[in-house]
Amino acid sequence: MISVRANFHTHNYRCGHAEGDVEDYVKEAIKEGYSEIGISDHSPLPKYHFDRMGMNELEGYLGEIREAQRKYNGKITIYKSLEIEYFEDLEDYYRELAQKLDYLLLGLHTYVVNGKLRDSWIINTDEDMINYALHMEKAMKSKLFQIAAHPDLYMSRRMTWSRAAEDAAHIICRAAAETGTVLEINANGIRKNLIYDKNPRRYMYPYKEFWEVAKQYNAGIIASSDCHEPESLNDEAMELARKFSEELGLKVIETIF
Ligand SMILES: [Zn+2]
Ligand SMILES: [Zn+2]
Repeated sequence: MISVRANFHTHNYRCGHAEGDVEDYVKEAIKEGYSEIGISDHSPLPKYHFDRMGMNELEGYLGEIREAQRKYNGKITIYKSLEIEYFEDLEDYYRELAQKLDYLLLGLHTYVVNGKLRDSWIINTDEDMINYALHMEKAMKSKLFQIAAHPDLYMSRRMTWSRAAEDAAHIICRAAAETGTVLEINANGIRKNLIYDKNPRRYMYPYKEFWEVAKQYNAGIIASSDCHEPESLNDEAMELARKFSEELGLKVIETIF
């Protein structure tokens, strides 16, 4: 068997909270023996304001990836992507992006309830968990996204699993299986834990009970670094993410291509 090592969730300086340019991550991936890397910085969005790369930086971003593809041709396969929020009224924009990219990474840091934007990092009630899950289900059903980043982000503030948490997990994992969206085990939740606590009782994400639900569905599962510094591409958090999936007996794919 040819061993593929890949990472499909990779940032760079353009988002304003990461270090390094595209080439720095590509070099790190080659150094770590990776055969594929997907560059997926936070996407600019029309109409909605988020603190990330501006629309005027998009061409430069894509140009830098193309340049790296030329320069490292034969050494590593590089894919073009963006991590992006889902808003129903932007579907034309996502379709336009899909023409320029190899895949789109759905990252819901925001969800929408009755037309109002809510912060996925501040989910405190059962109702919010379900609303987050329903928003993700709607996004997946658009079939515009190949991977759903940190689908268990809704648990980041919660210490205990509940009936609603379980229901939310089923909504998300069922939609992933039905739409062929790959679910991501995200090492950045582990990385954030390691800063404060070497042996946390639980990770911010991945959240064990969520992935036990995921196991019951026939959806693809991938582990990603979500690195915001080149040296984090294959760090201790990434090792722990692989260990997490092994211990739960999850079948993790290395590549989506
Ligand atoms: Zn980020
Ligand atoms: Zn990310």
